[in-house]
Amino acid sequence: MKNISILGSTGTIGINTLEIVRQHRDKLKVFALVADNNWELLSSQILEFNPEFAVINNQKFYNKLKDFLNREKSKTKLLSGSEGIEIATAHEKVDIVVSAISGISGIRPTYHAVTAGKYIALANKESLVSAGEIITKKAKEAKSTIIPVDSEHSAIFQLLEGKKEKEIKKIIIPASGGPFIDFCVESLKDIDVKKALNHPVWKMGKKITIDSATLANKGLEVIEAHHLFGLSYNKISVLIHRQCIVHGMVEISDGSILAHLGYPDMKLPISFALFYPDKLRAVKRCGLKELSKLTFEKVDPDKFPFLGLAYEVGKKGYSYPAVFNTADDLAVNAFLEGKIKFIDIYRVVKDTIDAHRGFKIKDIEDIFEIERWTEEFVKNKIKNL
Ligand code: MG
Repeated sequence: MKNISILGSTGTIGINTLEIVRQHRDKLKVFALVADNNWELLSSQILEFNPEFAVINNQKFYNKLKDFLNREKSKTKLLSGSEGIEIATAHEKVDIVVSAISGISGIRPTYHAVTAGKYIALANKESLVSAGEIITKKAKEAKSTIIPVDSEHSAIFQLLEGKKEKEIKKIIIPASGGPFIDFCVESLKDIDVKKALNHPVWKMGKKITIDSATLANKGLEVIEAHHLFGLSYNKISVLIHRQCIVHGMVEISDGSILAHLGYPDMKLPISFALFYPDKLRAVKRCGLKELSKLTFEKVDPDKFPFLGLAYEVGKKGYSYPAVFNTADDLAVNAFLEGKIKFIDIYRVVKDTIDAHRGFKIKDIEDIFEIERWTEEFVKNKIKNL
């Protein structure tokens, strides 16, 4: 029996994780649930899974949830803010931390879990993008294991197992292309929030869905892969693959290409990370219907300039990826709030990168310093658009 903490339990990954727990109660026990704002869904999760701890990050909802739990005579201890996150990530009873808080808010909790030497199922890609060097170094020191939950990284992780570095010619990360793959550059100008949230294959949270539409998500995945697999950027490539059946490919030095295929369901990579190295029985299988047509295309750099920018900041290193990450997070939120246009997301990020003077990141506090600088810059930028 493994004790599991789910950071971001009310998000898409959190909900999928709990569905897996529901089917494997003999193997997994929920130790802590952490949510940001959605106290109503969190309250029903608490009643169903009876965790030892629950954390509502937003203090505003603490009393409401506390009263509810008292009325229901729940034994779960309710905490809020950073004290709660510390217990959820570092308590000695925790065996697995599912790091699935969306966006840059997930960085600090991931870092806590790594420092505590935990086994981490990592869904928050922002952690490695902003703090990749610090986190991978810390993970080695603290003997923390990081297993990716992102479908592409999970696939490539599996393909790379047992391979020597010199045998790897390159890895290929597939991208669905999002809802605007067939739009011309011109028509990207009048995209609204509703259109951008309509992803053709994956059902995901808002931040990642918008990132998929701009391909910023793929850019973040390239940087994440660089840290996760220790590969240089010229060994990482991206191809458009609309059907989302191939989740990752690895080209070997002898010219062969290995691919990982599977039904597009996030429960697959989540289960992989939770039960590694054991395998579970499949819930859905790929049949001829899914396999009969698989296509691959090049990414159009004019339509999706975000990807090129991600490579650029990744190669520059230093504080640039953290600025990219933070500026994108803020710009996507501004778009979702109707403050900026779809095409301005890229403009805001690009201008922020151009204005930034990179420096070497020494510890996690540097990341938060960068976030403060970026926030200030982006706020002004958006005001003057
Ligand atoms: Mg992905």
